[in-house]
Amino acid sequence: MRIVVTAGPTREPIDPVRFLSNRSSGKMGYAIAEAAIATGHDVMLISGPVCLRAPAGAHLESINTSDEMFAAVQRAIRACDVLVMCAAVSDYKPEIYSREKIKKKSDALQLNLVPTRDILASIASEPHSFLVVGFAAETGSVAENAQKKMRKKKCDLVVANDVSRADSGMESDENEVIVFFATGESETISRAPKKIIARELVKIISNVCEKRLTKKT
Ligand code: C5P
Repeated sequence: MRIVVTAGPTREPIDPVRFLSNRSSGKMGYAIAEAAIATGHDVMLISGPVCLRAPAGAHLESINTSDEMFAAVQRAIRACDVLVMCAAVSDYKPEIYSREKIKKKSDALQLNLVPTRDILASIASEPHSFLVVGFAAETGSVAENAQKKMRKKKCDLVVANDVSRADSGMESDENEVIVFFATGESETISRAPKKIIARELVKIISNVCEKRLTKKT
């Protein structure tokens, strides 16, 4: 299968030296890309700025902003079977980009932020035949929020984790996730290194794709 994986944060520039971003390390997305390659899949990895080496065999496209990620995902999904939106896309970006470095002053600085385009929601709302996997990083009511996200963003699967825990989630080498299916069922993958979680996720994704294929034939 051809799998498109997004990973890492995006950077939304404020001026030539400053940007808005988040703590995503890219480890989960890179681990998914690696696990998918190891099981024989063709992987396109669209990555925000991270300190990781792309897994051997991945087709890497590096981006910075959410707009660049949107354009890269749009190109990549023209020929794909699965889209895994693991990236922590910035939800907001500065309304105005200052071409000059903003000068420091003694009074408060107002920064107007506008929402970024929701890549997952806009792509999943268009007709498509590929499987859509979303991620939900939550700090509470994980199941409820993940299920809401699945309906709102029209995902086939949502992988949710509790990022308020210090021992898993963003930046950590470990994670614990709950996979929600469109059928209403869910499956927990207990706390483990992200590489192990990634292998389990790739198995789940492959199974769902196989089931879809057998339904069609
Ligand atoms: O709404 P929230 O940011 O929690 O949703 C997370 C999911 O949506 C992730 O799969 C993330 O990659 C995707 N997302 C997106 N575009 C955005 C924000 C989030 O595709 N602007």
